[in-house]
Amino acid sequence: MRSERRPMTCRHCGKEFTARVILQVDYGRPEDREANLTDGSLFAYRCPHCGEEMHFNHYLLWVDEGHTVAVCNITCEEEKKAVDEALSALVAFGKDSRIRRRFVSSPARLCEKAQIFSQGLDDRTVEVIKLYMAEEVRRAHPQKTVTDALFFPDNEDFGILFLCPDGNLSVKVTREQFDAVCSRFAFSEPSPEVVDGAWAIAYLTGGKSC
Ligand SMILES: [Zn+2]
Repeated sequence: MRSERRPMTCRHCGKEFTARVILQVDYGRPEDREANLTDGSLFAYRCPHCGEEMHFNHYLLWVDEGHTVAVCNITCEEEKKAVDEALSALVAFGKDSRIRRRFVSSPARLCEKAQIFSQGLDDRTVEVIKLYMAEEVRRAHPQKTVTDALFFPDNEDFGILFLCPDGNLSVKVTREQFDAVCSRFAFSEPSPEVVDGAWAIAYLTGGKSC
């Protein structure tokens, strides 16, 4: 893992401390696979003075085991330059230069993308499935308000968790359903660097390619 030590100020007691901030997790390196993307610990820091645990949203690049895709959580557009440098370094060490990239803007989305790609799935297909499933959820539960939808792995299959203020709903998706959507759309490379719900709506209404 690539990291740097950064000065921080505790939001609780106001005192300063230094924390190790993880900047890059490369699943192509066995030692990096210990990094837990799902529990939020890569963005969590504990104040040594008062013990308060805090979460900071910061730049973090995740690269999959086969170096086919890189997902970066960024907090501003300028941080995209750091991704170029990081991926150039991987290529310089003999890795594949055709690394797909995705940009996200929250730790939850970084975790979601890493889980999607770790299962060998295509995130474009997942985003299209989310839209279809959301429509079904709205039909079945017209009283519910869906605020967001998140992928979650479920053994060989997966599910979509629909976040609703009055109680979340989850829908299971089989690999057969995924494959059916995948073959219907036949997404190709190069693919966009941002793939989210807005991308899926634009794609389905004919606004974008790939
Ligand atoms: Zn503190």
